[in-house]
Amino acid sequence: MQHYFGTIAAGKAILEGGEVHHLLNVKRSLPGEQIEVSDNNEVYLCVIRSIDPLQIDVLSKVEEKREPDIDLTIAFGLLKGDHNDLIVLKGTELGVSKFIPFTCERTVVVPKGQEDNRIVRLRKIAVEGAAQCRRAAVPSVSSYKTLQEVLAMPADVKIFAFEALSGGGDSIFKIAKSIEKRKSVLVVIGPEGGFTHEEARLALDYDFQFVSLGRRILRAETAALQVAAILCAASEEE
Ligand code: SAM
Repeated sequence: MQHYFGTIAAGKAILEGGEVHHLLNVKRSLPGEQIEVSDNNEVYLCVIRSIDPLQIDVLSKVEEKREPDIDLTIAFGLLKGDHNDLIVLKGTELGVSKFIPFTCERTVVVPKGQEDNRIVRLRKIAVEGAAQCRRAAVPSVSSYKTLQEVLAMPADVKIFAFEALSGGGDSIFKIAKSIEKRKSVLVVIGPEGGFTHEEARLALDYDFQFVSLGRRILRAETAALQVAAILCAASEEE
């Protein structure tokens, strides 16, 4: 079933912009077709009543859970090429709530401002990914931050993936099992060149716990997705 994001009011679903274009011109939906519409919180089963004007009636609320039981933020060192896209697309499917691209000492591609076309594209990817896996909420993609700004952000659990620990330190499995439901979790992943020891020391000052992601050094996008998969899956254990 096709899934869209919109607003719900008085028994009607209202879609806008790209969502209307997708329904009318890409999917060529017709009256009578059932769709799901999420208001970024709950998911509703709806039916298309008419196409011109577009009218969508709400039939019922979908009761099944679609979101993980933690509020997971993945902050990642901005990467070259389309590796950032991969983190947002696949991380959205896995259940990440918020993505924060940041710059640090070993960032290769340094953006000019706080927002650019890359951020716009990442936000579009998050909407498409969330619709594809029928999430209740679209994850947010923040403007660019510095590593220091990320480290200063509040969270119940703060995790710093430090490659210098590979094979040692607390494992992500151990940490995942210890996190209670509904907690906010902030994970920081370095860029292609990794973190400097000074950056790791700064993370300690901000009370981050260091985590090892196993015996091998992973590419940054693999590291981000491995952490997201393990933490979200662990949170959904009943
Ligand atoms: N250039 C670094 C090196 O060769 O040691 C590797 C950096 S790695 C490609 C990018 C980021 O992924 C790291 O900064 C870290 O956050 C994360 N990462 C990759 N493998 C890891 C591991 N085994 N344990 C913890 N973090 C890891």
